[in-house]
Amino acid sequence: MSKYQTDFLIIGGGIIGISVGRRLKMLYPEMAVALLEKEADVGFHASGRNSGVLHAGFYYAPDSLKAKLTRDGNYAMREYCQTRQIQVNACGKLVVAKDSSDLKGLDLLLQRGRSNDIELQEISAEEARHVEPRVKTFERAIFSPTTASVDPVCVMKSMRKDAQAEGVQFHCGVFFKGRTEHGVETSQGEFRAAYIINAAGLYADSVAREFGFSTRYRILPFKGLYIYSDELVGAIRTNIYPVPDMRNPFLGVHFTVTSQGTIKIGPTAIPAFWREQYDGFSHFKYEEVLDILSRQARLLWSSEFDFKRLAFEEIQKYSKAHLVNLARTLVSGIDSKLYQRWGRPGIRAQLLDIETQRLEMDFVLEGDSESVHILNAVSPAFTCALSFSNYVCDYIQKKLH
Ligand SMILES: Cc1cc2nc3c(=O)[nH]c(=O)nc-3n(C[C@H](O)[C@H](O)[C@H](O)COP(=O)(O)OP(=O)(O)OC[C@H]3O[C@@H](n4cnc5c(N)ncnc54)[C@H](O)[C@@H]3O)c2cc1C
Repeated sequence: MSKYQTDFLIIGGGIIGISVGRRLKMLYPEMAVALLEKEADVGFHASGRNSGVLHAGFYYAPDSLKAKLTRDGNYAMREYCQTRQIQVNACGKLVVAKDSSDLKGLDLLLQRGRSNDIELQEISAEEARHVEPRVKTFERAIFSPTTASVDPVCVMKSMRKDAQAEGVQFHCGVFFKGRTEHGVETSQGEFRAAYIINAAGLYADSVAREFGFSTRYRILPFKGLYIYSDELVGAIRTNIYPVPDMRNPFLGVHFTVTSQGTIKIGPTAIPAFWREQYDGFSHFKYEEVLDILSRQARLLWSSEFDFKRLAFEEIQKYSKAHLVNLARTLVSGIDSKLYQRWGRPGIRAQLLDIETQRLEMDFVLEGDSESVHILNAVSPAFTCALSFSNYVCDYIQKKLH
């Protein structure tokens, strides 16, 4: 088997792996940067299967990495798209209250927005209807003018092209199998590297354990289903979200207006039984099912975030009628005949802390002078990819000096 030699080796061709590769090439132009991707092309998983929303950054606790990176990431990604002529729909977003019990949640989001220096407008129900005539809200709402939508597949194609032009070497169809003394063993032989970056998404925890990291974490996959609408372009003008349950990292079923102006509802956060459980038995792995089922069973008995209720509520969302009914609480005039098409699902690489039995809310980095492991790159890591990759590369520079 061949031996390949590089300075930096990235595992994973999602938006994080590619952004880190581009940043490394900028910081160290004379050094070799290679990227391994097990699929035939980049962006097959979360990076090509997400909602495409560029989040503003007001959900996140002020001391978190998400809070630190989202606002700048949003600006940077919008600028990137503009320079590459990728369509950005600057349609903003409304967060609405279903009844008086949600008003406290709106206040908390406003407070977080202020702490994170995010532009937000607190508006009345009437003002919300000026933004989107069909929206339903109790007394008031929040409008976020900096939330926008892009097509994630277009972004991924463009980033790969840029990275290649800048000198990142792509090795698609190459599977990381394990660590060796000087690098990693893959389906195409050994790749030797001075420094390894693990950006393997749904498999980031298992790759990290090969290097002695992620010992207290396991990925618990959650499936995001979408229903695509057949309403006309422009039928809903802005993204519309409920007040989320702040005890878990998911934002609740919402309306996304895509970069093209079409509408989708979702994504769900249904517990999955294996990591790439997109359709039927695709990518079924027996050992994964055993491990994930045993963790889910444990969480049913004791978890820090009421997994039982979450699982019960989410599993019902396999029903199209149920999902559409939930969406009806946000917008009037929803004709279920126009909400019948399932879209391409995505799966969240959500990290579970097995010591505290909690879902990790923030991005997690672990590493040393030989490797770094990007764990829990869940939403809004697509939005943050450019600011996040700067952060990861600062981390690498510190570890190398
Ligand atoms: C349903 C859903 C909706 C979302 N909506 C949004 C949103 O609106 N806005 C937002 O900002 N974020 C959103 N996100 C989050 C966002 O998509 C992710 O945070 C981001 O794509 C993570 O990128 P990544 O590069 O870490 O992972 P990935 O895109 O999953 O890339 C990891 C790559 O590693 C590869 N890999 C894994 N194992 C190996 C191996 N052994 N060998 C070689 N390669 C390997 C995989 O094939 C994959 O291509 C959403 C996510 C989901 C699932």
